[in-house]
Amino acid sequence: MEKRDKIYEGKAKILYTTDDPNLIIQYFKDDATAFNAAKRGTIAQKGVMNNQISTKIFEFLKEEGIPTHYEKTLSDREMLVKKVDIVPVEVIIRNVAAGSLCRSLGIEEGKELSCSILEFCYKEDKLNDPLINEYHIRALGLATDEEVETIKKYTFKINELMTRFFNSLNIDLIDFKLEFGRFEGQIILADEISPDTCRLWESGTGRKLDKDRFRKDLGNIEEAYQEVLNRVSK
Ligand code: ADP
Ligand code: UDP
Repeated sequence: MEKRDKIYEGKAKILYTTDDPNLIIQYFKDDATAFNAAKRGTIAQKGVMNNQISTKIFEFLKEEGIPTHYEKTLSDREMLVKKVDIVPVEVIIRNVAAGSLCRSLGIEEGKELSCSILEFCYKEDKLNDPLINEYHIRALGLATDEEVETIKKYTFKINELMTRFFNSLNIDLIDFKLEFGRFEGQIILADEISPDTCRLWESGTGRKLDKDRFRKDLGNIEEAYQEVLNRVSK
């Protein structure tokens, strides 16, 4: 599959067209950003590791019946995916309190939540991806009610599947972000799932194996991503 024109360069990936109008290539970069790009850096080999980690997770979810954009991993940094019309809403699931939930509600990091929390954020960097709810989505026409129902159904299912998947690797899935898109009229899972988009804590020790090592300058960032890759590759 030939890479053709660059169509978009984001913070972590570059998108290229291919000779098939329905397929694009996601190229994973080493660039890392946090706090809406206020903090920037690079994590050596991150793109390579995230491409492989995302591949494993998308393959697993596909096997479990979740419709996804994933087609094929082409190289170290390149993944062939279906070109979707991205729903401009980031979908977050939280199983344990961390990050912005702690900051906004004054909750201690690590507090168990008695049920998982689903959040929506409007995907608009200029506005800092503000938290919204289903009424905002309807009022602004970001997605139809039916699409929102489908997205919620898939998200809770994915949470169940990924929690089980990571638990079997001795990792606790604390929270994560998903993006969905429209392909031939259907909602499918898109973007990536990696330590950039999930909080992953080693079971028992609580050792952070995700982008919080970069956000909080905890050191050993590459080692943490590599550890996740080693475990998902088993
Ligand atoms: P950002 O845009 O937030 O800086 P990235 O650097 O990860 O993020 O860029 C990847 C972009 O590609 C994101 O905007 C994401 O919504 C979009 N995207 C992900 N999967 C697909 C897909 N299958 N088709 C079209 N766009 C996609
Ligand atoms: N997340 C993400 N992209 C975003 C915002 C959040 O992948 O633009 C992920 C983040 O890695 C974490 C979860 O979503 O796993 C919840 O993020 P939170 O709102 O706590 O983000 P913070 O403000 O702490 O980065």
